[in-house]
Amino acid sequence: MATQNKPKQIQCGYCQAGNPVPPFASVVTCDSCGMSNELKSGKVLENHHMLSIYFSGSELQELVPQYLSKFVGVPSDFADKTIFKEFELRMMPFWVFKFSGKTQYKGIGKYVNSSQGSRWSKSIDIRRRPEQGNIDMDQTCLVFGYPEQHREIRDEKIPVGSKEAFDINAVKREAGVIYDTEIGYDDAYGFALGQVKSRHQQLIYREIVQIDGMNQDIDLQEVSYLHVPFYRVTYSYGNWTGEALVDAARGKVLRAEYPISKGHRIWGLGAIILALAMIAGGIILALVLPAWNIAGYVAIGIFAGFLIFGLKETLTKKKVAAE
Ligand SMILES: [Zn+2]
Repeated sequence: MATQNKPKQIQCGYCQAGNPVPPFASVVTCDSCGMSNELKSGKVLENHHMLSIYFSGSELQELVPQYLSKFVGVPSDFADKTIFKEFELRMMPFWVFKFSGKTQYKGIGKYVNSSQGSRWSKSIDIRRRPEQGNIDMDQTCLVFGYPEQHREIRDEKIPVGSKEAFDINAVKREAGVIYDTEIGYDDAYGFALGQVKSRHQQLIYREIVQIDGMNQDIDLQEVSYLHVPFYRVTYSYGNWTGEALVDAARGKVLRAEYPISKGHRIWGLGAIILALAMIAGGIILALVLPAWNIAGYVAIGIFAGFLIFGLKETLTKKKVAAE
């Protein structure tokens, strides 16, 4: 792998402190003052927010085992024997766009003309007619800062309404690490605008079947660069180690790995033995008694499924709990 001799640096546009530029970053948040510098424009972003870090590492020691207690196969002594090793607070980046959008449309709609038919039947008669209407709504769009990585965070419903001004000291108090977006402002804006337009179109097609004309006016009301706190927690249970991801603003476990209890794996082993026996039986049946041919093959098929289930349960030592 090629190494760069000189790590790229950027001077903060607000406090002039030097900051390293991570590969692929579009924005660099200054480690000294907490202002965010956009690389492409060289400007300091005006609106930089965060969600407060309400949960600390020590609280997660209860939260994670509590969350896992409802999943099947978790060892019963998991809460007592688990040793928490690391709590890494990550401030993850989102762009937040607020739009107000208006669309006037006209086109062709369908309606049902249920005029009286004969005495015995009603004729249902679908007709078309020109229609027009308006869509007028405000919409908030979030764009997660990473196109590929950290997928488990992207689809989270972020409670944007509770955002506060970004506070670098609050992040430092919890030894948080700031992650900056790889998606620049322009791309994020384009993506969000596309979301608004497709939402309008979706709503129009609920009313009419064909659009003949449209007059659209979509205004950006507000944009914010938002950091949302997540904990990556690592823990061990005997020789086993696993990790969990927790939303630190709401204390919600997004995913957590857990070891499979011995009892659960014995079940898996039982399934394997049973399946092997039945498959053997099926083969014998199919070979010895031609009349039972089909039944034999069906049995082999069913118990092959059983075998796969058993193998999976026995060999997996780690499972992921996620909702
Ligand atoms: Zn600075």
